[in-house]
Amino acid sequence: MILNDVRIIAGNSLVKQDVEIRHGRIHKIAKSLPKGNRCAGKLLLPGFANAHTHMASRIVTGSGIGLSKFEYFTKIGFKAHKVRTRDDVYNAVLLAGIEFLKSGVTNVLTMDVHPKPVIKALEDLGLNYLIGYPLKDAFEEAQNVEKSFSMLERLNKKYRDKIYVGLANEIECTPKLMHKALEFAREHDMQIHMHACETRNEVKKIKRLTGKRTINYLKSLGFLDYDTSLAHCTYADTRDILLLSSHGVPVIHCPTSNYEIARNIPETKLMLKHDVIIGLGTDEFPWNPNPDVRSEALRAKNLGRLKIKDAFSMLWGGHTLWEQAGIFEGAPANLLLIDLWKVKPYNEVDKLYMNILRSNCISSVIINGEYKLKNYRLTDRIDERRIRLRVEQSRQRILDRIT
Ligand SMILES: [Zn+2]
Repeated sequence: MILNDVRIIAGNSLVKQDVEIRHGRIHKIAKSLPKGNRCAGKLLLPGFANAHTHMASRIVTGSGIGLSKFEYFTKIGFKAHKVRTRDDVYNAVLLAGIEFLKSGVTNVLTMDVHPKPVIKALEDLGLNYLIGYPLKDAFEEAQNVEKSFSMLERLNKKYRDKIYVGLANEIECTPKLMHKALEFAREHDMQIHMHACETRNEVKKIKRLTGKRTINYLKSLGFLDYDTSLAHCTYADTRDILLLSSHGVPVIHCPTSNYEIARNIPETKLMLKHDVIIGLGTDEFPWNPNPDVRSEALRAKNLGRLKIKDAFSMLWGGHTLWEQAGIFEGAPANLLLIDLWKVKPYNEVDKLYMNILRSNCISSVIINGEYKLKNYRLTDRIDERRIRLRVEQSRQRILDRIT
């Protein structure tokens, strides 16, 4: 595939180039290549990463608004897990995936208690994904740990490099489970992803139990390494941030979720000052019912008082869990085409970034070298309207049963 006359960002200006995509990667960038798809008036950007979400929760979207994290799970979340069917989950994830795709997401990290229908939907849709099962051995939904590890092993064998070792959080996993999970991840060369320092209560509780704050506790268990990424870190203090920085642990920032639950967000300015890699996540649908990573970037900017360039870069920060994203020869061809006429005026790159966050301008999405969205339409024959209707019916049925 060749894209002719496409604009790419070079410093503070846009330059016209031809881009050849071969075998799922950017093969060549040059001034003039053979004729392919004319892309005059389009800007080429790397696709965005939604690096922390729970896609199956699309089935109970909006049901957690106004509730604390604990209230939501006890009143709705855990019950919904019991009554939803495999089909409910499949359709919900398909719909969530379509919505993500339209907002420019090419890579998604999800954590779900029923991974099989989630994987099927993601494979059918063709998004790049990482999926984990939230291991936990304390409190509600505590599992038979042996069974969980066996399942993880089977999934990892089948979907190599797409499965990570997920841990619920610092409170719902005992040190024994944490040790076992770490050992398992290292033995199978898998990534580790977990919620950490999400609420003030969790940080207080772990301090009471271990004498350490969460990040230090994780360090003492051997977690802060090349393979670990953490969601939230809302209550990470300066010492925690220095530890995250010195160990190169990426933080996945979920501004809407953090703000809904705690009216608080992490110290992103301080994190950036200390070169902590920050990605963005939309987290749970129950308290983030219209998730769009671009809105998360905007919220990250406004709530964290960040420069637009820093907030926009977070849309690509999550790619650290896959491989570096960018417009360069050899980069993975996970790309977006932006309609430039929709983001005018863009006399400077900061203005351009701001307008991309605010407008419906993503005309095409290319994943692994193939169009998934072209001229605002899905390329696969998916009946989005029908799926949306089915998900809404399932949502009503589930909420009627448990509330
Ligand atoms: Zn989460």
